[in-house]
Amino acid sequence: MSPAICNDKPDASALAQRLASLQQRMTITAPDRRVQLLAVSKLQSAQAMRDLHTLGQRAFGENYVQEAESKRHALADCSDIEWHLIGHLQSNKAQQAAELFDWVHSIDRPKLITALAKYRVGRPPLQVLIQVNIDDEDSKAGCQPDEVCALAEEIARQPTLRLRGLMSIPAPVADMEARRASFARLRDLFDALRKDFPACDTLSMGMSEDFELAIAEGSTMVRVGSALFGARPT
Ligand SMILES: *Cc1c(COP(=O)(O)O)cnc(C)c1O
Repeated sequence: MSPAICNDKPDASALAQRLASLQQRMTITAPDRRVQLLAVSKLQSAQAMRDLHTLGQRAFGENYVQEAESKRHALADCSDIEWHLIGHLQSNKAQQAAELFDWVHSIDRPKLITALAKYRVGRPPLQVLIQVNIDDEDSKAGCQPDEVCALAEEIARQPTLRLRGLMSIPAPVADMEARRASFARLRDLFDALRKDFPACDTLSMGMSEDFELAIAEGSTMVRVGSALFGARPT
């Protein structure tokens, strides 16, 4: 047997097992509704993404514009992949982001809204989420909860953007009850937003460590990296 065969097979089957197990845990947590799985592929290989695509996964989350660009190129034949930008976006990368992605989860300031809107002209609308700094961490991107409404109105004025909801990364504290409380506050914000913007249908919260908690608190889309791909290469 050639080494290539020995090395490739276990990887793909490990991916298949982790995907099936994740889907099962998601279904058990929310038996009555469909929660979307976003496969967070930052720093993972295009081959691993291709394997997941073969298994039926379509939505992938990337953190870096440059990395996403080279992967889009490598996976050009997988034309039904839905590309999500989940990392912080610098304004000077807005044009590239508007060209590469179907969704942007990290909208947190007016300047980004106008830049993305401008560069999206002539294409189907960009699906966007407002990122909220729900635990008011200094280190973290995202707007304050009381800024959500103004940002939502700004997005609604842009015909090339479509507001779909909210995204957040709670503080990674060990206390799971504290995380649950953060998810619950985000859910309250989402419910409030939907009163004014009923088309909002997406609450992006929950990662490998806490996605079940997030689903229990109303998440509609979980962003899972290491529990799906295995540990990220460093
Ligand atoms: C990396 C990342 C994830 C996935 O993290 P895991 O713990 O590997 O599941 C989710 N969301 C964002 C914004 C990320 O940067």
